[in-house]
Amino acid sequence: MGIIMTGITIALSKGRIFDETAPLLKAAGVIALDDPEKSRKLILATNRPDVSLIIVRASDVPTYVQYGAADIGIAGKDVLLEHDGTGLYQPLDLNIARCRMMVAVRDDFDYEAAVRQGARLRVATKYLHTAQEHFAEKSMHVDLIKLYGSMELAPLVGLADAIVDLVSSGHTLKANHLKAVEEIMPVSARLIVNQAALKVKREVIQPMLAAFSEAAKKNGMPRQKWIHNDGNMLL
Ligand code: ADP
Ligand code: MG
Repeated sequence: MGIIMTGITIALSKGRIFDETAPLLKAAGVIALDDPEKSRKLILATNRPDVSLIIVRASDVPTYVQYGAADIGIAGKDVLLEHDGTGLYQPLDLNIARCRMMVAVRDDFDYEAAVRQGARLRVATKYLHTAQEHFAEKSMHVDLIKLYGSMELAPLVGLADAIVDLVSSGHTLKANHLKAVEEIMPVSARLIVNQAALKVKREVIQPMLAAFSEAAKKNGMPRQKWIHNDGNMLL
């Protein structure tokens, strides 16, 4: 018989996701020994010798978990929808990092008229897959332009007519003279688990999932009425 591995690794990104996950980790009895905003370490030890955290780019979280380099990960639904989910369980909506995936345009642009006239719009986004599905569903022909950030700039400088991006308060849109015109879906962060790890390390992972689930319920403020519901909530 081989060595029994009982330690687990959790992949998450710093910033919003880390900040909002910390209370959930704490509820599961896990406290990071370093602050990822202050430390340059990418592997953070915790108060529990059997749990370590790795700090990766938000869009890389599913990749680490898929290949088993991390057993568990925390990633936004936005990120998960752009990633092929092979080898991943997605058992839990953590109800954190909540925002909405939206279509936005310059505030002087008549989106409804453009849609009605069947205009071929240029849409800039980091979320090609999501945008592609959305416009296909609306039977709209669009030219998608891939960007990696600062999507708000694109309509202002004539790169695109519209963007598909995450919106929470709407302040960034407003500051850039943009308006949201369509909601694609509500977004929140999900817990993901490597399928093989769940089998092999069930004794460590299962209680952690239970603790996360319990703590996440407390975040479960009723959502606003969304324009669209994708019917894909996992919990
Ligand atoms: P990055 O700039 O690397 O994409 P962010 O911290 O901006 O990292 O985003 C990480 C995750 O946080 C996103 O994948 C998304 O799920 C969530 N998120 C992004 N923007 C918002 C927002 N305005 N409000 C709430 N959650 C957000
Ligand atoms: Mg960002």
